[in-house]
Order: sequence, then C-alpha cells, then structure tokens
Amino acid sequence: MAEPVLDLFGFRKPRPPRRVMIRAADVGQAPGLKPGWRTTRGGHFVCPRCGHDAEWRFDLTETEIRAGVACPICNPQPAEVAHAHLS
Ligand SMILES: [Zn+2]
Repeated sequence: MAEPVLDLFGFRKPRPPRRVMIRAADVGQAPGLKPGWRTTRGGHFVCPRCGHDAEWRFDLTETEIRAGVACPICNPQPAEVAHAHLS
C-alpha cells in the first residue's frame, strides 16, 4: 500500500512511507484568485480513514489535488508521538 504510485504521466514521485493522505471528496474553483495564490483550483478533503474534515483548500495544482493532503489525525506530528509514548 505504501509503494510509490506511477501516475498517469509516467513519472514517479518519491513519497514518505506510511502517510495517510486525504483524497479530495470534491473539487472545484475558488471564486477568485487571492494574492500569492498560484491557482484557484481546490478540493474538499475528507479523510476516508478517520473522517477528519480538512475542509476546502485552494491554491492547489492538479497534481497536488490528485496526491491529496496528509491527514493531521492519522499522521501525528513527531512531537505528539514522543509525548504519547511517555504518557
Ligand atoms: Zn485521518
């Protein structure tokens, strides 16, 4: 499951192993471009594993939307892991 995925364009992206990525449940466009944004494209990200709703995120490329975003619940930060280990 953690193997790199060959995408439609035939190149591989190195990805950190065992990261739970949230796939876009819906995709769309922001009403307008904000300063600093590259794109108005975005997606509504809901984690299929824990149900975490990461809400709509914009300023994403097609590649980023396809790759998804890392779930903050399923991918605890290293500091949180260390604390959980101590308690
Ligand atoms: Zn999750």
